[in-house]
Amino acid sequence: MTRRSPTASFAPGANVFPGGGIDAADAQAHGIAARRSTQGELHLTQAIAAIRESFEELGVLLARHADGRPADASDIAALDRRRPLAAQCAARGLLLAADQVFVLAHWVTDRDLPRRFDVPFLVARMPEGQQPVADEAEQFEPVWVRPADALERHRAGGFFMIFPTIRTLERLQRFATVREVLDACASERPLWTSCPRAGLLAGAEARYMEHEPPYGELALVCPDGQILHPLDWQSERPVALLRHLMRLTAPNGGTMTGPGTNSYLVGDRDTGYLVVDPGPDDPAHVERLLQATGGDVRLIVCTHSHADHSPAARPLQARCAGRPAILGLSSLPTARPGSSFTPDRALADGEQLVLAGGGREHHLMVIHTPGHAANHLCLALLEDGLLFSGDHILNGSTTVVDPPDGDMSAYLDSLDRLAVACTEHGLGFILPAHGHVLGDAPGAIARLKAHRLQREAKVLAAMKARPGGGADAWVPLAYDDTPPRLWPVARRSLLAHVQRIEALGLAA
Ligand SMILES: [Zn+2]
Repeated sequence: MTRRSPTASFAPGANVFPGGGIDAADAQAHGIAARRSTQGELHLTQAIAAIRESFEELGVLLARHADGRPADASDIAALDRRRPLAAQCAARGLLLAADQVFVLAHWVTDRDLPRRFDVPFLVARMPEGQQPVADEAEQFEPVWVRPADALERHRAGGFFMIFPTIRTLERLQRFATVREVLDACASERPLWTSCPRAGLLAGAEARYMEHEPPYGELALVCPDGQILHPLDWQSERPVALLRHLMRLTAPNGGTMTGPGTNSYLVGDRDTGYLVVDPGPDDPAHVERLLQATGGDVRLIVCTHSHADHSPAARPLQARCAGRPAILGLSSLPTARPGSSFTPDRALADGEQLVLAGGGREHHLMVIHTPGHAANHLCLALLEDGLLFSGDHILNGSTTVVDPPDGDMSAYLDSLDRLAVACTEHGLGFILPAHGHVLGDAPGAIARLKAHRLQREAKVLAAMKARPGGGADAWVPLAYDDTPPRLWPVARRSLLAHVQRIEALGLAA
């Protein structure tokens, strides 16, 4: 790594990898570069640019003679770092070793930055017998540093780096050797692709990649990358997600509820409001729901009966002048004693609820989704392509499926129904009862289903390894990637998998 000039226009003073823009000459140097048969035209040009920049900035020359002998100190001494590299190499009979350069990752700089870059990150093994020497113009103080050490120095405050560098080192530190990194890049496809988004945590900018929990929420609320949205969890006031959508989180955070139960308020002053999941029976939370809606609640929908979702429905209804109907599905006899619930009216699968006023309409479609609870349902806000997923899909934690009210086959079938709804109605975002908004709704559902089926395979393997062992013997095997403190909860989902495995006859 090297340190950038303190007067650089981009990332001044940051510790970075060598690199720079692609020149027209890089694309014209294909004729004196060695390439892999799998290396496309663009990747070849990128590799040549990387070789040229490494030479200009650090005097490192990734090239070889016609007989295969690598370029050495005498070759480097004979070349001028300020003059075009390709022509000098051609004159000396050197071939650029672009076949030794691999694509590691692809980054696009964040939407909020005034100058934006579309950047491949490339890797190659350092040629033996060469020493990096900085150009002392763009780059200073070249240093060999292990990824973990660079990150440690950065945390200690002595090694300034920008976000993509930090995240690249975080990924690189998982590889033990250069060989492992190069092998992982052999497919010619970037190991990851990212255009980060930023929100605010305690007032300070915080950036996230696509796989991290807040990313989808930032995509929904600040699509053009504005850094405005607070990501801190609090229950004092509602968070605006869209002009006609707010989230008020109940003050019931914990192991099972994450940051707390999200109550969603759909609507505006003209249409009145529909409340999704009024939450636990907490007078302060009900009071805040009333304040946020001005008391103009037209409908209350409970996604299911659990104690952190439905008990506030009656107290909220009692405080609203229009006495809004409580809608949902009645709990079944299988529900735990604290989870009984009876709506004023049962919602039919496919039914649409409408909020109208001021020339606007909001349509919410009901989707029955048993699995987490037998009386679970989801709602799709059709105009905005949003799915209110209750506890069926969460962000930052995994749904517990707890028999007998929970049922794993029903859970997986419901996921399939939600995937179909995403396609049919163009649903792009998922608003869970616990955690931030999820983006890429179809992808999130597909990953969740894959995760459940992977877990099922581990449960089945545990059952075969310890026949007759029972849940206590199987949990440590099937959940060996989960902290033991979560095993008592995991045990319930394991029983749901066991029931499904036995019903399908898979264990035989
Ligand atoms: Zn629940």
